[in-house]
Amino acid sequence: MQIKLVEVGLRDGLQNERVILATEDKVKVAQGLIKAGIRHLEVTSFVSPKWIPQLADAAQLAHQLPPLADVVYRALVPNRRGAERAGQTPIHEWAVFLSASETHNRKNINKSIEDTYPVLREVMELARQQGIRVRGYVSTVFGCPYEGEVPTEQVLRVCERLLQLGVYEISLGDTIGVATPKAVKRLLRACQRHIPLEQIAGHFHDTRGTGLANAYAALELGVRTLDTSLGGLGGCPYAPGAAGNLATEDVLYLLEQEGIDTGIDLALVCETSDFVQTKCKRALPSKVLQSYLAQKRDEKRGDGD
Ligand SMILES: [Zn+2]
Repeated sequence: MQIKLVEVGLRDGLQNERVILATEDKVKVAQGLIKAGIRHLEVTSFVSPKWIPQLADAAQLAHQLPPLADVVYRALVPNRRGAERAGQTPIHEWAVFLSASETHNRKNINKSIEDTYPVLREVMELARQQGIRVRGYVSTVFGCPYEGEVPTEQVLRVCERLLQLGVYEISLGDTIGVATPKAVKRLLRACQRHIPLEQIAGHFHDTRGTGLANAYAALELGVRTLDTSLGGLGGCPYAPGAAGNLATEDVLYLLEQEGIDTGIDLALVCETSDFVQTKCKRALPSKVLQSYLAQKRDEKRGDGD
């Protein structure tokens, strides 16, 4: 079994961190992750620099990343302006996004879901002209912070529209971390009737501690792509202090122990997360990371240091 991990820490993770990292530190993080064996990295977003100061260096960062033939760098592209900026950088892949729930979409994008499609169509057109692949993100598929439960048909409708626009993959996001395995399986089974699972990625948040269980449920059903964030970087904007993205280390440990090879070196990911912890001035929530670091401290003490 081959699992593709998409590392979203530099974008989704950092965008929810208070401390703004220097571009050169972001490059170091990318290098550490690549050295660990990660090949798919979402590194930034070409939203207006005023919206997210953490990602204001999108273009500079894109130019400073090591150009490697076997590494895919992806960035979020919200609209034509973003596409024009991204198009002048060596970013290989773009991602467009919208919400499955109307209120979240309005708060996040300032448009109704229906009015968002023409904006995405413009991005898709620019991507096509440049031969760039585009992924689609659908947020709040398991629940909306304003509307509560989101009907499955609504999620499917948004997914189908995205596929019609030409995205090659859809990442289903549990934005507020409310899903449990039963809900994951229910939604994936419904999706499966319309969309091949090879085109679906799971983007789980660990806000309520169910992220790993949900990822496992998705794998059991046949999903082979998971979005994760090093150290579990990034909080939840709707639950201050709570964990956000599912941690790369936690998923890696689980996969390794289950005998699933990812080609990624867990210890090297932990070392990179440790660097991020120092920069962000806080302990990151990944349990596997914290246990790795505790063991390392113990071993050091054992040596008589
Ligand atoms: Zn996320």
